[in-house]
Amino acid sequence: MNELLKKQKRYFRKGETLSLDFRLKQLTRLKETIQKYEQTITDTLKKELHKSSFEAYTTEIGIVYEEIRFITKRLSDWMKPQRVPTPLTHLGSKSYIYPEPYGVSLIIAPWNYPFQLAMSPLIGAIAAGNCAVVKPSEYTPEMSALLKTIISEVFPEEYVAVVEGGVDVSQQLLDLRFDHIFFTGSVPVGKIVMAAAAKHLTPVTLELGGKSPAIVDASAHIDLAAKRIVWGKFLNAGQTCIAPDYVLVHISVKFLLIERMKQYIEQLYGDKDTYSRIVTVRHAERLVRFLTNGIVVHGGTYDIEQRWIEPTLLDDVTWDDDIMQEEIFGPILPILTFGTVDEAIQMINDYEKPLALYLFSEDRDVQQQVLQQVRFGGGCINDTVVHVANPHLPFGGVGQSGIGTYHGKASFDAFTHYKSVLKQTTKFDIPLRYPNFPNALKWV
Ligand code: NAD
Repeated sequence: MNELLKKQKRYFRKGETLSLDFRLKQLTRLKETIQKYEQTITDTLKKELHKSSFEAYTTEIGIVYEEIRFITKRLSDWMKPQRVPTPLTHLGSKSYIYPEPYGVSLIIAPWNYPFQLAMSPLIGAIAAGNCAVVKPSEYTPEMSALLKTIISEVFPEEYVAVVEGGVDVSQQLLDLRFDHIFFTGSVPVGKIVMAAAAKHLTPVTLELGGKSPAIVDASAHIDLAAKRIVWGKFLNAGQTCIAPDYVLVHISVKFLLIERMKQYIEQLYGDKDTYSRIVTVRHAERLVRFLTNGIVVHGGTYDIEQRWIEPTLLDDVTWDDDIMQEEIFGPILPILTFGTVDEAIQMINDYEKPLALYLFSEDRDVQQQVLQQVRFGGGCINDTVVHVANPHLPFGGVGQSGIGTYHGKASFDAFTHYKSVLKQTTKFDIPLRYPNFPNALKWV
């Protein structure tokens, strides 16, 4: 790994990655190779996570194509040095901001969207002119191998390489001195990554998780709230970092919401054969333990060997239950209630700042109040999850849910250092700033 990093650092110093033409070519070749492997990617997602081809395209492959399209269209503008104003006190000089790549980036990816969450950051790294080492998750080994095949077919390893392996490999990589680390994964591992980066003062982007609430106010359009919460929560069997983790509903509309959510679960995810699986038996066992919390009002059955858990609604859950102590990351949705919006806000603010927040309300004052009083990474009003798919919206967490953002321009920025330069004139020299000099500025 050390040799690989040295090779990449040597290659980076040659300067080949700096031109617009080079970057555009690499992104186009990457897209073409993904197209060539599209069916294999879909098959691998089906095999490891039982994702349907519809989900494979809409939440993994299609998002990657769109990211490449969005970025290649705008890259030339983003790469241009930007002239900025200079105060009169610096008469004769001009000021510029030069976007420049960090150098060699380490990208560590999770297993839940194993293709997209390795590729999307890589697109940002390439667009910004970096070399990169990608470490996919060991829990989706076939996708990890496929990523290696695709990436080594497109790029020489001194430019972009995949290093496969688990925690030990990840830790060995983290011991090395990269120029930037982009990590997607859990909060505890995010802390390990940041501690390792601190040893070399390496800048980090941390895309983490947490408990993202869906608040349903009494004024909400309940039928749509139920449909959109069910869709976002149970997508990929709840293994989505921005899935609503729990529902916080006004007591007066709880029963109606539950009834509608039951209907939509049947309609959208009622077919066991096509429903996504939990990544491993161990992960499924952890989730099944939560089923003893509260009261099961829908679902609750499972098949551990098949790694299948039925989409489940849990009523009468309390803040002290185990399920409310950690990110769920599975198809189990606890439902809690509130009496006033102030109370709901206080409950959420007692937790860590969430990665996402979803508010269902027709009341503009309530919308404004929640936006003003709750800090969270990003989210939606009257929807779930879809903010992630707008490349104009920077995506990321705050506090324990992450540091930094990406997607679209934010991806370019995540892998870029903005170098500020003042160009001074040599045609004249204003003496005011020099001490002990004739005509120096006298303060008294
Ligand atoms: P994880 O933190 O267990 O693993 C992520 C990566 O880190 C893997 O490649 C793994 O090999 C590596 N890793 C694991 N333990 C390590 C250690 N001790 N030292 C060094 N490296 C280590 O996360 P996961 O289980 O793969 O993914 C689920 C988590 O990721 C959830 O918390 C979820 O919310 C979060 N997530 C966040 C986003 C986002 O965009 N913010 C997206 C997807 C998932």
